[in-house]
Amino acid sequence: MESDTIQTPEGDLVIRFVGHSSLIFFWAGKNIHADPVSLEADYARLPKADVILITHGHGDHMDVNAVNIIKIPATKIVGNDEVGSQIPGTLVMKNGEERVVEGLKIEAVPAYNLKHMRAPGKPFHPKGVGNGYVVTLGGLRVYIAGDTENIPEMRRLQNIDIAFLPMNLPYTMTPEMAADAAQMFHPKVLYPYHQGETDTAKLLALMKDHKDIDVRIRTMK
Ligand code: ZN
Ligand code: ZN
Repeated sequence: MESDTIQTPEGDLVIRFVGHSSLIFFWAGKNIHADPVSLEADYARLPKADVILITHGHGDHMDVNAVNIIKIPATKIVGNDEVGSQIPGTLVMKNGEERVVEGLKIEAVPAYNLKHMRAPGKPFHPKGVGNGYVVTLGGLRVYIAGDTENIPEMRRLQNIDIAFLPMNLPYTMTPEMAADAAQMFHPKVLYPYHQGETDTAKLLALMKDHKDIDVRIRTMK
């Protein structure tokens, strides 16, 4: 499992790339899990969670078994309505809401499809259901996009230091859509994630003239 260490004004932030949509952030003694899913790792061998962020109810993001393995009585779980209806005690956030959890500022932002449809008129991710999250860690703003396309609301994202954008097709973005998304809010560091079989080299090629965005490829199928 790969990890990156990023310096913040308040100590190192370590990001562990578990797989697909599953990530762990270690910061200031806290373990923040995003979309923990047992298919990606043996969670019994991973650190318990102070905070668990779950973007939406699809099985590659919400896995009650993984949550039960990493949660302790003090764990705070943040999710959308779908998560709240399945996991008791979830702090439910809707798009546009903001709250402070365990001292971390968390903003829930929209995540939905514009083009990619399950059937005509039925997007894989309808507007208003799933969340992306912007989490402030040590003064850095980390954007975990969830399952989304390059939606216009991304233009409103400000001062994003680190962004995770999904490229698994047909459910999320093509490399062209992800490149367009990145150019809407200019993160300092961009990690494609949740990429499935999508060719990350295409994103690198599309971003090669945007030297202000450091595109980093990690193993996140
Ligand atoms: Zn999904
Ligand atoms: Zn997904």
